[in-house]
Amino acid sequence: MSKKLTKQVMVGNVAIGGGAPIAIQSMTNTKTINIAATLQQIHRLEAAGCEIIRISLPDEPSVKAFKQLKKEAQAPLVADIHFRWELAVAAIKAGADKVRINPGNIKDKDGIKKIVATAGLHNIPLRIGVNAGSLSDIIRDSDLANAEKLVVSALESVALIESMGFTDLVISAKTFSVPEALTVYRTLAAKLDYPLHIGITESGTKKSGSLRSAVGLGILLSESIGDTLRVSLSADPVEEVYVAQQILQILELRRFHPELVSCPTCARCDIDLIPIANELEERLSASRAPLRVAVMGCVVNGPGEARQSDIGIAAGKGRGVLFKDGRIIKNVAEENFVDELMKLVQKEKPE
Ligand code: SF4
Repeated sequence: MSKKLTKQVMVGNVAIGGGAPIAIQSMTNTKTINIAATLQQIHRLEAAGCEIIRISLPDEPSVKAFKQLKKEAQAPLVADIHFRWELAVAAIKAGADKVRINPGNIKDKDGIKKIVATAGLHNIPLRIGVNAGSLSDIIRDSDLANAEKLVVSALESVALIESMGFTDLVISAKTFSVPEALTVYRTLAAKLDYPLHIGITESGTKKSGSLRSAVGLGILLSESIGDTLRVSLSADPVEEVYVAQQILQILELRRFHPELVSCPTCARCDIDLIPIANELEERLSASRAPLRVAVMGCVVNGPGEARQSDIGIAAGKGRGVLFKDGRIIKNVAEENFVDELMKLVQKEKPE
């Protein structure tokens, strides 16, 4: 996958675009003014591998809390601002590493000028974050197709901010519809040299939203479109990080956790493989070892797959053969599969 090099922007110490690894973002869903709860979520996101964390600042007390959060957070913090330019200016002064603005809902052009001037002064980037649900009235009521509305809105906002002499930008234009998102991001990637923040907005619950995001973002990433991503789920934001990591890992763009190979089971399977695979997946998600780990239900594909993986078990009746690097290590009882595999995983160094 050869990638068109975009301009690079820095969000705190994290580079976006210009050949940098595709950065994973998420967003807190606590009340920002509840500093303790928000900080706890920030730390959980950091521990899960979230590289950039966005926080909603709907009012002045939230900006005040944001200033406090900035002192404690390790990851760069992005202020998410709608409607009021004064909050964006205050957030930049409070130490925001980037501000996401939605020009569709900031009507005061002088206000946008003030945001841009303050961002320039503090040397931080802005994200133009267009969303299908919050387009400007003129664009929303136009006869354009939905995808076109998003593209026009993003391009108009880029032109407006460029006309103010500011180019430290990241662009997003999100919609729930995957076909629309593909059209929008393909068009923006062809027209702009700014890094693109990709996401399928309001994509649903952990299950449906993960699938929707994986399909949409997977297609874009496979076309080398996207420099940073957020998976947006109606769920604990830590889940978003895990799904984003999985999408990048499955496309072999980045590596985060060991990969699990497990068979779907069938009449040949003589062990209770599904709970074993689930427990193994859970425990592997805490490891950073760059491994492929297999647990297979029988001797049909089991030995071959277990051999091809770094570590694997091919099961028989209530027992299995443990392989490492293609060689048989020993025979293991079914109840010890996970522990024996994890012992070998833990001996590997993280990448
Ligand atoms: S590996 Fe064996 S048990 Fe698993 S699906 Fe294939 S044939 Fe069935």
